[in-house]
Parts: sequence; structure tokens; C-alpha cells
Amino acid sequence: MLAAIVVLGGAGCGSGRGSAAAGGAASVSTADTATPTPRATKKPKHATPKPKPKVTKKPAVKPTKRPAAGPATTIVFVNVGQGDSEIIKSGSWTGLIDGGPAGSEGVIESALGRLGVSRLNAVVVTHPHADHTGGLSGVVYDYRPKLAYVGEGAGSAASALRGVGAHIIRARRGMTLRFGALRAKVLSPGPLSGDPNEDSVVLLVDAGGKEFLFTGDSTGANEALVGSITARGPPLYLLKVAHHGSSYSTSSSFLAETSPKFAIISVGHNSYGHPTPETISRLRAAGTRIYTTQKNGTITLTVSPSGLVSWRFARSSKPVTSARRSSSAGGGGGGSSTSSATSGSSGGGTIVYITATGECYHRAGCRYLSHSKIPISLKAAKAQGYRPCSVCDPPR
Ligand SMILES: [Zn+2]
Ligand SMILES: [Zn+2]
Repeated sequence: MLAAIVVLGGAGCGSGRGSAAAGGAASVSTADTATPTPRATKKPKHATPKPKPKVTKKPAVKPTKRPAAGPATTIVFVNVGQGDSEIIKSGSWTGLIDGGPAGSEGVIESALGRLGVSRLNAVVVTHPHADHTGGLSGVVYDYRPKLAYVGEGAGSAASALRGVGAHIIRARRGMTLRFGALRAKVLSPGPLSGDPNEDSVVLLVDAGGKEFLFTGDSTGANEALVGSITARGPPLYLLKVAHHGSSYSTSSSFLAETSPKFAIISVGHNSYGHPTPETISRLRAAGTRIYTTQKNGTITLTVSPSGLVSWRFARSSKPVTSARRSSSAGGGGGGSSTSSATSGSSGGGTIVYITATGECYHRAGCRYLSHSKIPISLKAAKAQGYRPCSVCDPPR
């Protein structure tokens, strides 16, 4: 069953944001509060919102600086399990960002079918990891996009893209892509760093005067740069959280710069501890309302030209309210020490080592530490969801 809510968009919060936040995307002057109100939880129980949604604030003042023209935009965060896939539809134009892990073809194609789409105009491959490209080949053969925007490469989807004759374009910082009536600014990558996650294509899309940031698995210096670029514009309406909620992305400073009102984490059952309690805590501390595809199912947003956004959830419409490791929906991660652990609180005792991108902790001499070796207390490593390496068998 579908649950639906309607959220009237405001100018956003701008809290914790520098002065640059002022020039807003405001299409309605009565800004919502910084912390999204509980209003959305009192949603109507039906897929079709009642004619009078629970939005009481009328946009009495209608300071529409921008003409409310053009088609509505639909953005779908497809529940592909542990991976990423988003559909953007603007009028008759449809694009797909990433294709989830292998086996996602069916769910992506169902979502396209529900939108009445029979052909993709473009695909974006944020980076060539299997949880973003595994389901792409089948979708590419069936929906035959003419264009593909890639960062480092298209991974396993490359031959499918060539097979359908798609024109492959390297997306680089500074480019602006046409998504039908929309514009997508490429904020990353610039020069490649060599780390596929860090080199993810990051897109800032304006729809109805609201800003949506699609991050792939962005992290590190490129994420920091994206934060500083985004800080020059209005606060984000929505952040597609990078790297499935990994603690190595979505830093507090990034959140201070981007001030997302809503966040969606694309995540499924996994052994990495995604989304991590640290990331959830940071988002909550930033006043961001969080949804995940694991808990909420496929999430569909429809944005009117004037910026009215309606949300639809395939499962629950309840946001994530706890940093506690979720045990929901087949979610594993035995609810161990769930304290919000905002810090790398050192705490004495045993020291183990982690890497910049790995999910395990190790003994000092482990061969997995050849690229990076970051000391951390055993207690903190466990609290942050790291698992003991099966090769070096560190203390537990
Ligand atoms: Zn990745
Ligand atoms: Zn990923």
C-alpha cells in the first residue's frame, strides 16, 4: 500500500548556513521551520492526497519571482536494496542516475513503467561500482538511452551503452546538463582522484525552485568541495545521502554548508553497517528529516513548477528518528551499542586500525592496511560499526 503526504515547500531553513543562503529558492514566503514539523506524519492514509491536505499555511503572500511555468518534475528513489538508482522525469524527458546492484532491472523498469516511460533520454553513471551499475545493462538494452554521462567510466554497463549506440560524455565540474526543462549542474568530479567513490558524479538539480543534490558515493576532498560550492546557493531541499549513509561521507561541515531539509539514504540489507549511526546523528543534528529506501521503500516526489512537492512512499511514511542501528526490514546489525557516538571519542584501551574506505578493523600488520592505516580504539571501531577482519582476526 502506498502512503502519501504533501509537503508545502518553503524557503527552507538556512539555519547553520552562512549569509550566502539568503538568495533563496523561495516560492512561498512562509518558510517552514528549520526542523521539519511533525505535520508530515499526520498524513492522509491514501495514495491520493485529499483535496485539503494538512497544510494549513496558505501562501497568502505569493511573491513568485519566478514564473511557475514548465512541466512538473518527478523524482523516484528506487528501492534497489543496497545500491543506488534514481529516476528524474521532466515532461517527456526521462533520465536515470545509476542502476542499482545486479538484479535491480525489474524494480527499476517497474518504476519507469509506472511513470509511463518507454524510453530513457539519458543515464548518469556516477561511478563504476557494482552497486550502482549492476542493474544498468538490462535497463539500457530495454530503454535505449541516447546519452550517458559518466565520471570515471560506466563499469559493467559500458558495453551495453556502446551496444545501443549511446553517446558517452564525461561529466566534469562546471558543466551544466540539460534534463528536459531542468538544468543539472555538475559539481564533481573535477580532476579524478583515483578513488571511484570520491570521483562520483555529483549533480545539483533545480526543480520548481528547489535544490536536489545527487551525490553517488562522494566522499573526501571532492565532497568538501561540493559542500563549499553548494554553500554559495540556497539551502538544499533534498540531499541524496552519499555512499548509503557511510560514516566517511556526509560530514558535519558538509551539512552545515548544504543545510538539507530532507535526506534520502538509498540502502538495503548489508554487512557494512550502512547507514551508520554517526551519519544519522549528524543529519539529525543538522535538523534534516531522514528517509531510507530500506524503511520507506521506493520514494517518489512530484514537484510542481511552483515548488509544491508531494511525497509518496511505497512503505512507511515515517522518517528515521533514531541513530540506533536499524534492525528493521531484514536490516541486520544487531542493535549493539547504539549510543550516538558523535565523536571519535578516543577512550583508552586496545588500538586497532581501519582504512579510509573499508568496513573492517584490523591488527597493525594486516595486509589490508597497505593503502591507509588509521588508528582507532577498539571500542570506537565497534561503536562505529566496523567488523573484525576475517584475515588478521583482531581482538573483539
Ligand atoms: Zn561506490
Ligand atoms: Zn555505493
